[in-house]
Amino acid sequence: MDGYDQRNDRAEGALNCPDCRQELQDYLDGTLDKKRSLGVFLHLRECAACRVEHDALHAVFMRLDTLPELEAPADFDAAVLASVPYAAYRAMEPLRRERVPVFLEDHFLPAWMRARVTRAGGLIAAAGATGAWLAGPGQAWLLVVAAAGAAPEILLRLQWVGRRLVGVRRAEG
Ligand SMILES: [Zn+2]
Repeated sequence: MDGYDQRNDRAEGALNCPDCRQELQDYLDGTLDKKRSLGVFLHLRECAACRVEHDALHAVFMRLDTLPELEAPADFDAAVLASVPYAAYRAMEPLRRERVPVFLEDHFLPAWMRARVTRAGGLIAAAGATGAWLAGPGQAWLLVVAAAGAAPEILLRLQWVGRRLVGVRRAEG
């Protein structure tokens, strides 16, 4: 580069003060491309005011670099969750629950029907009766047994589906 080209470059890359200050942070981070970086460098060499700004920012950066890195505390997630009004949401659960139609409530069906034993036993009986009906000459009473056996499980599942539907509708409304 001869003297003329250099002057030309300087004129081209010359920054005014607002532009220079805007670039200072990136300049210190070293993320500016060469040309802009040179522009800032040249401006700083000639502008005392921006140099003061640069030095101050540089000092801040240096101090930030010396700070120890902090790990998030182990209970960080819990603390964040605790700040969410989740307790209030939970406290309103009875209110929300009241809006579920009573036939969708768990205890609308008698406990014996909800018992795992009844449901499993019923399904086994239903499967047996259905199998016998398919294998045999088609006795109708076997179908009645099958329906009665499957009823607890079917009712509980219908309830469950109903609750889901109610919940979904509420979430949408
Ligand atoms: Zn300046």
